[in-house]
Formats: sequence, C-alpha cells, structure tokens
Amino acid sequence: MKLYNTSSIHTHTTFCDGKNTPAEMAAAAAAQGLRTLGFSGHQPLPHVNEWSMTEENLPRYRAEVERLRAEWAGRLDILLGLEYDWCTGPRRPEGFDYWIGSTHILRGPANGRLYEVDESTRQMQACIRDGFEGDTAAMLRAYYRQVVEVAQMRPDVLGHFDLIVKTNRDGCLFDEDGEEYRAIAGEALDACIELGVCFEMNTGAVWRGWRKDAYPADWILRRMAQADARLTLTADAHETAALRFGYERAAARAAAAGVRTLWVCTAQGWQRCAAE
Ligand SMILES: [Zn+2]
Ligand SMILES: [Zn+2]
Repeated sequence: MKLYNTSSIHTHTTFCDGKNTPAEMAAAAAAQGLRTLGFSGHQPLPHVNEWSMTEENLPRYRAEVERLRAEWAGRLDILLGLEYDWCTGPRRPEGFDYWIGSTHILRGPANGRLYEVDESTRQMQACIRDGFEGDTAAMLRAYYRQVVEVAQMRPDVLGHFDLIVKTNRDGCLFDEDGEEYRAIAGEALDACIELGVCFEMNTGAVWRGWRKDAYPADWILRRMAQADARLTLTADAHETAALRFGYERAAARAAAAGVRTLWVCTAQGWQRCAAE
C-alpha cells in the first residue's frame, strides 16, 4: 500500500460536527489498514455555531484521544490535533501534536456580521451583497488575506487553501477561471509558498457532493508543483467511511499537475512518498 494511503489526519468526530465517535473512527482506521490517524476537532469559537467543539468539550476531547492513543498503541498511531480557525485570533494552539490552520469565516466590513464561507451559496450571496456591499473582489481579497495571515502563524498544515470556491456552483458567485480571481488567489498562494507551509489536498467537498474535484484547483496544484511546495492528502473525514476517500484519484491529479512527492504525516514525523 502506498504510504499516503496509511495516514488520515484531517478528521472530525461527534465532539464537533462529525458523525462517529473517536473510538469508532479509530476502529475503522485500523480495519482499513491505516497506520496513522490524527484527530483535528474544530477549535471552540468565540461565538455560537453548529460545528465547532465547545470550551467544555475540549478537555473531554483531549482525554478521549489520549485514552485511544494508549488503547491502540502498537497497532495504530493516534495523533491529537486541532483545526484552528482564523476568527479565534492570532494565537497558536498549544498542547497538540499538530494543528491545521483554516479560514471558515469572514466578517463583512459593511455590517460586521460573520459569514461561513463553506456553508451555503445563499450565505455567500448574502456575504457579498450585505457584508461587502456587492464587491465580490473585496470579499475574495478579504478571504485570501486571512488565509495568508493563518499561514504566517506556521500551522503544521494550511487547511483547504481555496475553500472559498466550495459553494460557487457553476460559477454563480465569481468566475474561478477569470483573471481577477486568479490574481487574488495567486498572490496569496505565492505568499503561502514563500512561507513554506504544507498545503493539503482535501477531498472532503467531493465526499459531500459539493465539488467534482478535491481542493485545490489544477492551476494551483501546477503552481505548487513548480515551486516544489509541500502537499499532503487529507479527507476532512466526518465519518468512518470517508477516512481516505478519494486519495488515489487526488494523488493522480496531483501527479498530472507535476507534483512528484506527497508529504505524509506519521507519528515519527513527516515522510515523503511518490505521488504516482
Ligand atoms: Zn475546515
Ligand atoms: Zn475540517
């Protein structure tokens, strides 16, 4: 089995918005032949929401992952991770084996409201219309500025770089192939590459029927390949069946874009593996 198929480190459980418990995820990971399972529960947010852990859940999450780490020792390496969100402020998470740095939320400067960029097309339409006074480019610049700010905090993995395209079905919000979008995203991409972050190729939106292909887009992959940027495969799995969903296809796409090496997170540190 290819090394990249043995590791899944972007996962969610019933402690946040996942469907399975950590124990169920660990048992499934072992049964599927994984060697490394990392839990990356959504960090508690400063406002009420439906998908992150709560402050009171966090210590329980930590304790349960530690319990499973001991229980599965020697059979499955379990890592305690966290998916950080930009809106919690520029403070690096501490006390975790690794953390994924993500931007899920935008604050509209016109009205101060928070919008979830990956929730629905309707919410993003409202975000552009009310939060950014109809200025789509300003919304895109704000999103990618936040992505770069997260990258500057040196997360172990930069979460779903171009998540902003998730609800952009058939280009209903903006033209993903247009010059304007590519200039804004491309500038952020270059900044993140310069910072040396590890990007993820995230298959979660394909599993959930939002997108045909995993993030990031092919043109971004090609630019990463040219710059020899680090890239790891993740499933953003919210249930056991998705633990390494779409890895083979994503790896083939990465290879077609010129990516030679994929980075694989293990309990012994990052290892490298041929993309094809
Ligand atoms: Zn995320
Ligand atoms: Zn996630």
